[in-house]
Amino acid sequence: MFSVNSCREENSVNIKALKGFKDILPAETPLWQELETTARAIFAQYNFDEIRMPLLEETALFQRAIGDTTDIVEKEMYTFADKQQTLRPEGTASQIRAVIENGLLVQKPVQRLFTIGPMFRHERPQKGRLRQFHQLNIEVLGSESALVDAELISIAALLFEELGITVSLELNSLGCPQCRPAYRQALLAFIDERHDHFCSDCRRRSSSNPLRVLDCKVPDCRGQLSAAPSIQEWLCEQCSAHFTEVQEGLSRLGIDFSLNKFMVRGLDYYCRTTFEFLTGDLGAQAAVAAGGRYDGLVELLGGPAGTPGIGFAMGMERIILLMQQAAPDLRRMREPLDIFIAGIGDAGQKKAHSLAWELRRDGYSVGVDYEGRSLKAQMKLADREHAFFVFIIGDDELAAGRGILRNMRDRDAEQLELELKAEAFHRLDEFLSVNQPE
Ligand code: ATP
Ligand code: MG
Repeated sequence: MFSVNSCREENSVNIKALKGFKDILPAETPLWQELETTARAIFAQYNFDEIRMPLLEETALFQRAIGDTTDIVEKEMYTFADKQQTLRPEGTASQIRAVIENGLLVQKPVQRLFTIGPMFRHERPQKGRLRQFHQLNIEVLGSESALVDAELISIAALLFEELGITVSLELNSLGCPQCRPAYRQALLAFIDERHDHFCSDCRRRSSSNPLRVLDCKVPDCRGQLSAAPSIQEWLCEQCSAHFTEVQEGLSRLGIDFSLNKFMVRGLDYYCRTTFEFLTGDLGAQAAVAAGGRYDGLVELLGGPAGTPGIGFAMGMERIILLMQQAAPDLRRMREPLDIFIAGIGDAGQKKAHSLAWELRRDGYSVGVDYEGRSLKAQMKLADREHAFFVFIIGDDELAAGRGILRNMRDRDAEQLELELKAEAFHRLDEFLSVNQPE
């Protein structure tokens, strides 16, 4: 007989996953599915379409879109330098590239799109911070309306509400190419006065991109910045009116927020509204979702001039951690099996397999044994899979052409004799439809 030992490699190796790259194990996947299912239902309620892009893009896409002096582009990208290709660190640039390349805006001038998938950033791994992580990403292209800003924020608010997660919302406006240059000058003057107190990154970036300094995480720099001028005081009339409308829109929807004049976000493409949903429950990893408006980005990436856009991304790992914290006792598991077919003896086992095939084709979820286990051992297996029913086929049942059906939720109930064919099981539907788990 073929044995396991006969195919064991002599030079076996022990290879582990890369640092910051995490397996999502079967015990966790139901939670991920719950998050995805809830999000997909909400995206559908808001009339969004799904788009899926490749994970690898030309490096120039991210350099141009996100900005050369951002942390992501300077420090965090996974780039194949010899090929000028990069694993996507975020979803917006790829999404816009795909929309432009495929002419979607020509077909429909307002695009409401979402995507779900992995992103890659070479950062120091911590709780809630990985090198491959996952985002729910949503974008609206082609509308400048402040109502869209408020509506988009409400999508995240609704998702957190449905998941039972408490977060706070912070809001800012970054102005536009008309009003930002004057603010930029004021900020630069402020930084120059205290030049030596800022870290080397800030000093280097201040002349090329002083707004990035507001994003610095170094505590001393943050201390210096507390007295920095606020962009909200430099907004032009249109940006100021837009910002007011967004706030009024949120208030009409009953969504609480606070203003954070220093929030610039880690990507250069933002203008006007920016926002972050924050949690106090994940240590330094406070941001659970973040986004904003990027009215110049579509044009920058070669799309139709003047196409506005707004979007945000939610960090799925962080949401999963919060879901676990919010309801640690809630046992989430895969749907139970409809039926386990216990075939006893060689002929019973074979019959069990062909019956399982027929029932699966009929839409039932079915478990079977492959190792010739005893009835007792198979009953245990069925229990572990939380099967609703066990159908037993031994030599006697084969001879009679009828197997024994046992209801595992109510063991005292009468056992039923059923013909050994799929049609005989149709009456299970009624039982299963009234006994689905919560
Ligand atoms: P942070 O300040 O935590 O680094 P960020 O501003 O870099 O976040 P974004 O680029 O706005 O993050 O991405 C949107 C969301 O994706 C974040 O709010 C966060 O929830 C999640 N996220 C970002 N980087 C990571 C990471 N390395 N691991 C896990 N989740 C992440
Ligand atoms: Mg970051």
